[in-house]
Amino acid sequence: MSSSRTLEEVGADAATCTRCRLSAGRTQVVFGVGSPTADLMFVGEGPGYHEDKQGIPFVGAAGQLLTTLLGEIGIARDEVYICNVVKCRPPGNRDPLPDEIDACRPYLLAQVSLIDPRIVVTLGNFATRVILDRPVGISRVRGQRFTWEGRMVIPTFHPAAILHGGGQASSQMAAVREDFATLRAALAELPPTPAPVEQQLGLF
Ligand code: SF4
Repeated sequence: MSSSRTLEEVGADAATCTRCRLSAGRTQVVFGVGSPTADLMFVGEGPGYHEDKQGIPFVGAAGQLLTTLLGEIGIARDEVYICNVVKCRPPGNRDPLPDEIDACRPYLLAQVSLIDPRIVVTLGNFATRVILDRPVGISRVRGQRFTWEGRMVIPTFHPAAILHGGGQASSQMAAVREDFATLRAALAELPPTPAPVEQQLGLF
């Protein structure tokens, strides 16, 4: 997928995509939402029931929890970009299959390339494995800082895992809060983004 394309053009391509079997059961493609120039990008697993109906990622209970966690570190949801590894809902909310992830990967890589976030937060095993391109387990790597293609990656648990975590929910919630504190610190440590050349030259 050419990096000379705009985010809107890539999204328009995805909207009619039939590259994998997930196209058969979707209501609509859930491409991504948020600031196209975000410093911070979140990558989840795949759309659920509500996301499939509304066409927006993270709108159900897991999305509300993500919004709450962002608010706790002083970030508004519309300041970040949010998307998933696969853009169409797996039937019955099953895990995405390897060939489906491979088919959808070019869209995710195009989103990262075009939005160019300084930090990517991967939510859960699938996003973490796709972005880091290694078979890691989220429990082992959560909260650590990785470098991938010149940007920082911080994995943490998927909010849905906390909501369905049963007896582990409170410990997972504490872990995610710890990871979001790491994220806040990482954002604070980032060097300022250089001003546009025109601004540096005093042209506006
Ligand atoms: S999941 Fe991705 S690759 Fe599969 S049909 Fe949807 S947009 Fe295309």
